[in-house]
Amino acid sequence: MAEKRDYYEVLGVAKDATEDQIKKAYRKLAMKYHPDVNKDPGAEDKFKEINEAYEVLSDKDKRARYDQFGHAGMDGAFGQGGFQGGFSDFGDLNDIFGSFFGGSGFGFGGSSRRSANQPRQGQDRYMQMRIDFMDAIFGKTETITLEVDEQCSHCHGSGAEHPEDVQTCPTCHGSGYVMTQQRSMFGVIQQQSVCPDCHGTGKKVTHVCHKCHGKGYEHRRVKLDIKIPAGISTGQQIRIAGKGERGSNGGPNGDLYIEIIVQPHSTFKREGNDIYIKVPISALDATIGTSVQVPTVYGDVELKIPEGTQPNTKFRLKGKGVKTSRQTGDEFVEVMIEIPKKLTRKERDLYEQLRKGQKESPFERFKNSFK
Ligand SMILES: [Zn+2]
Ligand SMILES: [Zn+2]
Repeated sequence: MAEKRDYYEVLGVAKDATEDQIKKAYRKLAMKYHPDVNKDPGAEDKFKEINEAYEVLSDKDKRARYDQFGHAGMDGAFGQGGFQGGFSDFGDLNDIFGSFFGGSGFGFGGSSRRSANQPRQGQDRYMQMRIDFMDAIFGKTETITLEVDEQCSHCHGSGAEHPEDVQTCPTCHGSGYVMTQQRSMFGVIQQQSVCPDCHGTGKKVTHVCHKCHGKGYEHRRVKLDIKIPAGISTGQQIRIAGKGERGSNGGPNGDLYIEIIVQPHSTFKREGNDIYIKVPISALDATIGTSVQVPTVYGDVELKIPEGTQPNTKFRLKGKGVKTSRQTGDEFVEVMIEIPKKLTRKERDLYEQLRKGQKESPFERFKNSFK
């Protein structure tokens, strides 16, 4: 048997990780290795491994058992509701199993019976969506097409043509389980197994639904309008309730999570809710001051460049950053001062005149400081 990796290691979380941390780590990995997204060989196995780890670590009882016993506590006969009753004559065994399950005795049989025909919510699904820089700032509605299993509109998941077509399973009388007796060296052991007739649902459908042919759900291709809120940033997720994998035993679907990836812009850079831009101005304009029309995501805005502006000075345009429902960022304009590479004869003459009129150049000042 291949050696199993530690579940905490699989999800990359600490042993004392909170439920929230586990969920977050799971989502991140599931998104990365989801077979819909990741076509690498081995991605599917990895995805299964991640799901298995999450199934255990997200369940308080299972996690406690795993913490105490490792993988040994997870599989084998004990987890599946194997033994039920019949141990009264075997005090020692009872003690062994009792301590094995942290003193909870034989609670397992009961809990797995419940989980077999209890409605269970489906798994969540994950996808990524790339959006334009500007769409992230102003928000947008994006339509996507998705394959989803939806509850059958005729039978509402029961799989029966009419409500009265659902009857209690005669084999197990609705429990979903049958008991069998087995002789062993310990005496007679009663064993519980899933009802072969109803497969644990406890129900029998006499006349199947014409619409879903008894499945209880319909596979549909649906168009969804995804509302992307203004101000969204890379890594944020949008949750679409009920569009995940289908539930079992009439349980609701999981949810769909869409992770947003914002494409970079050629001019604007975004950090949080602030926007950064670099604009070139001439040395002349920096020296004597000017006024320029600076691009912002909301259109051009006039910016006064004061006399004596130094290279790489940053000016703030308040409120011209990203507006979210909670706050508004600013735009920061950094001036890049351009020194002319070629001068006309006339410009050269003018610069010469300026130089003659200058009292002390910066270099002279620097040299004089050594004296
Ligand atoms: Zn149906
Ligand atoms: Zn049955």
